[in-house]
Amino acid sequence: MNEMECESKLLRVGNYYRLSDEDRDKQNKLDDSESIKNQKHLLLDEIAKHPNYILVDEYCDEDLSGAGTYRPEFERLIRDCELGKIDIVLCKSQSRFSRDMEIIEKYLHNKFIEWNVRFISLSDNADTSNPGNKKSRQINGLVNEWYLEDVSNNIRSAFHSKMKQGEFISPFASYGYEVSKEDNNKLVIDPVASEVIKDIFDLYLGGLGFTGIAKHLNSKNIPCPSLYKYQKGIKLNVISNRPREQIKWSTNAIKTILTNELYLGHLIQGKRTTVSYKNHKIINNDKSKWIRKENMHEAIIDEETFNKVQMEMKERTKPIKKTGMVHIFSGKVFCLECEHYLRKKNSSRHEYLVCSNNRDGYDDCINKSSMRYDTLEDIVLNVINEKIKKFYDEEILRQEESKKNISRFADKIKALEKEKIELENKLSKNKNYLKSLYEDKVNGIINPDQFKDLLDDYNKNEDIYKDQIKQINNDINFYTLKQESTSNNKKLFSKYKTLNKLNRVIVDEFIDKIYIGKIDKETNTRNIQIKWNFE
Ligand SMILES: [Zn+2]
Repeated sequence: MNEMECESKLLRVGNYYRLSDEDRDKQNKLDDSESIKNQKHLLLDEIAKHPNYILVDEYCDEDLSGAGTYRPEFERLIRDCELGKIDIVLCKSQSRFSRDMEIIEKYLHNKFIEWNVRFISLSDNADTSNPGNKKSRQINGLVNEWYLEDVSNNIRSAFHSKMKQGEFISPFASYGYEVSKEDNNKLVIDPVASEVIKDIFDLYLGGLGFTGIAKHLNSKNIPCPSLYKYQKGIKLNVISNRPREQIKWSTNAIKTILTNELYLGHLIQGKRTTVSYKNHKIINNDKSKWIRKENMHEAIIDEETFNKVQMEMKERTKPIKKTGMVHIFSGKVFCLECEHYLRKKNSSRHEYLVCSNNRDGYDDCINKSSMRYDTLEDIVLNVINEKIKKFYDEEILRQEESKKNISRFADKIKALEKEKIELENKLSKNKNYLKSLYEDKVNGIINPDQFKDLLDDYNKNEDIYKDQIKQINNDINFYTLKQESTSNNKKLFSKYKTLNKLNRVIVDEFIDKIYIGKIDKETNTRNIQIKWNFE
C-alpha cells in the first residue's frame, strides 16, 4: 500500500484503552481516571491528524492486568476485528494491548493479517503495515513480559509485608465494611451493610438455616454483597451466567459471613493467591500461610454472639447417622418437574430430599417442597412389597399350572422310556438273528445270495431301531429340562418374601429411577413415579 492510497481511503479505527494494576499510581490508588484520560487524548489527537481515520468504537478495560485472560472489552475488540468492523486498532503502546508474548504473536502477526486489520501503537511506534517493524515489536513484547513478571513479584512481596503489618491490601472491602477514605489500608464500618450482617447473625440464632436466611433476605429485596457493591459503584468482575440484578443471596454467602472472623475486628489475609502473573486462576492457600492480625478494625459482631453461632453450627450439622455409607437411594431420585437430581439435606431431626435446581436461595423449579427421606423409604418399601405380593399371588396360579405340567411331562417320559426298552429288546433280538444267519450260511442252509439279502434286511432294521432310540433319548431330555425349568422360574422375586427394611442392594435390584413431583395444593398429594428394572 503506498502513501497516497493510504491517505485517500477511509479507515475505520477502534481505540483500545487499558488501565492496569501494574501502572496504578500507588500514592493515589482511587484516582484511576488520569491514565485512561491520557490514553484517550493521545489517541484522539492521532485520529485528528489523519483526515481519513474514522473512530468507530472505543474499548476500555479498567482494573485489568495486561496478562489477564478476562478482559471483556479486549474480547469485544477482537470480535469486532474478526467481524470486519475495524481496519485499524489504535493503542497508546503495545503493552496496553497486551504484555503477553503469545497474544502479541497470535493477533499482531497472525490473526490481524488474516482479518486485514492494522495495529498501530503510538508511544513505541509499532505499526504492522511496516514489515521492518516486526522484530522490534517482538522485542517490545518480550521486554513487556519480563517487566510484568518483575512487577508481579515485587507486588507480591510488597503485599505480603503489608499484610504482615495488618494493613488491608485488597482494593475492595468485604461486605459490611468500606475502605477508609483517610487511610486506604484500613477498614471502617459500612453503616448499611453492617446492619444486614447483624440481622444474619440474629436470624441464625433465631433458628433459621443458611438457605432460610438467604431466602428471607431475597424476599425482602435486600441486595446481595456483589449487587450492593455494584450499586455503590464498585466494579467487581463477577463471573455469573445471570444478569447482575438477578444475583441473589446464596446459602454459601450466608455461611461465609457467619464464619468470617473479619466481623470480630480481625484481619485475615492471604487466604487465596493466583497461580502466577500469567495464570490468574485463584488457588486456596494452606491455612499455615494465612496472615492473621487481631483487632485491626471496629467489630460488627461481639465475640459472644459469634461464638454462640459457631457452637450452634456444629450442633446443627451433626450427622444423623454416623455411617459413612452411600444413602440407599443415592443417584436414583430425580425431580419429576425439571429432571434435576434430588439432593439430600439434613436438619437436626430429619433427613430430606430437595430438588437440586432450587439450591442456594435460587428458585428455579416449581417443585419447592422437600420430601422426607424416611417417608420416601416407607413408600418405596410398600410398593416393593406390593410387587412381591402380586408376584406370589400370580405364582400360586403358575405353580398349579406347572404342577399339572410337571406330572404331564413325567407321564410322557415314562411312556418314552417304555418305548425305548422295547426298541432295545428288538435291537438285541436282531443281533441274535445275525448270529443265526451266519450259522445257517456256514451249515449250507442258505446260499450266498440269500445270505446277502437277509444281511441287508438286518442292517436296515438295525439302523431304524438305533434312529428311533436316538429320537426317544432327545425327547426324554427335552421333557426333563422342561420339568426343571418350570419349577425354577422365579429368580428375583422368590429371593424375597415380605421385606421389613430396604437396603441399597434391594433398591438397586428392583429400581432404576424414582421421580418425585411437586405437591398439588388442591389435593395435597404429590406424584411419585418409579421406573422398575423389570417390566
Ligand atoms: Zn425440580
